[in-house]
Amino acid sequence: MGIIVQKYGGTSVVDIDHIRNVAKRITKTYDQGNNVVVIISAMAGVTDELIDMAMQVTDSPEKRELDVLLATGEQTTAALLAMTLKAMNYPAMSLLGYQAEVHTDCAFGNARILDIGAGRIKDLVDERNIVVVAGFQGIDENGNITTLGRGGSDTTAVAIAASLKADICEIYTDVDGIYTADPNVCKKARKIVAISYDEMLNMASLGAKVLQIRSVGFAKKYNVPVHVRSAFTEEEGTMVVNEDSGMERLVVSAVTHDKNQARITLKKVPDQPGVAAKIFTPIAESGIVVDMIVQNTRAEGHTDLTFTVPKVSFEAALEIEGRVAEEIEAEDVLGDKNIAKVSVVGVGMKDHSGVAAKMFNILARENINIIMISTSEIRISCIIEEKYAELAVRVLHTAFGLDKEE
Ligand code: ADP
Ligand code: ASP
Ligand code: MG
Repeated sequence: MGIIVQKYGGTSVVDIDHIRNVAKRITKTYDQGNNVVVIISAMAGVTDELIDMAMQVTDSPEKRELDVLLATGEQTTAALLAMTLKAMNYPAMSLLGYQAEVHTDCAFGNARILDIGAGRIKDLVDERNIVVVAGFQGIDENGNITTLGRGGSDTTAVAIAASLKADICEIYTDVDGIYTADPNVCKKARKIVAISYDEMLNMASLGAKVLQIRSVGFAKKYNVPVHVRSAFTEEEGTMVVNEDSGMERLVVSAVTHDKNQARITLKKVPDQPGVAAKIFTPIAESGIVVDMIVQNTRAEGHTDLTFTVPKVSFEAALEIEGRVAEEIEAEDVLGDKNIAKVSVVGVGMKDHSGVAAKMFNILARENINIIMISTSEIRISCIIEEKYAELAVRVLHTAFGLDKEE
């Protein structure tokens, strides 16, 4: 008998009626003779509310305690869903991350799954139980509760699907598939029928939050077929699978945007060996992930250095660089939270020239200033003012021929 892993996101479980809707979908799959393991997110907005509450206590809540708090969001929905299923006379049981043996490293707030000891889930499934696992949470080697970073329930789902060798991992969400751009921003975005792990990794890393990036990494590593689809319709969604020769090979296959970035600039940094190391080592040591780095050459032995970090790390990074600037005798440290990264992506770009020039021209036509640029052979990213992000996505989507037919 096959195993189907289903993950339901926050918008699928916003209240008891929605939880009942989810329960009906689960029992339908179960009644067809499948074994079902469900991964559940917190109700939409709850994780944010819990963070807000913690911030009312202190500006910098202790990370261990914050994870204990955040894990309650998923604990609530897991219990409510299992209760709903039992009330419908189905054998169901909820498991928290530690009970489902989701073992992680110790990086509170952004922990990585190391392995899943799927013994307990497997035993319950073998007895034909519907197992409901709280997503987004795990346990570290010291027995502490950890969380997996925003959107982490996707990763719980794919990791559990891999460990159970499930037939498929279905990700149920509020859109009916993966699109060529965020469909909530770009009405002309087209639904993609099938996308390769690599291309989805690319999109997720550039801001397409429909799947958490680590979930795609797991899916690729363990070859888990992932089906992203709507929790509210019966429509087929998007399959994320190994590369398939039948897939479309467009030069630009998607446009993504990411508003979760902030910029830090150190002005007039001495142009000497070791200075970049002094700037980035304390940032790395405090666990902040740096994305883009640009260094401009200035006259007379000085340079300006700009880099981006996630918005949540902005204040911490600014404080660190304030200290570094004094030490290395840089002139000033500036920061800006109102930026966005807009990217065009596509593996077909490898064999084409002129994509970057075209992107810059399109942005120029809208009078959108480019603050930073970074490229690889399969993407081009520009940092722009945050208020232009949606406009930029739409004009790029049209100009690169991605709009759906009317
Ligand atoms: P869930 O709570 O179900 O995990 P998320 O909000 O994390 O849902 O992810 C779904 C959202 O991802 C959509 O509502 C959509 O706005 C956003 N999204 C961004 N880029 C894309 C894309 N290329 N295709 C589909 N959805 C996208
Ligand atoms: N509840 C968590 C979040 O909001 C995890 C998830 O929904 O995947 O980020
Ligand atoms: Mg999500």
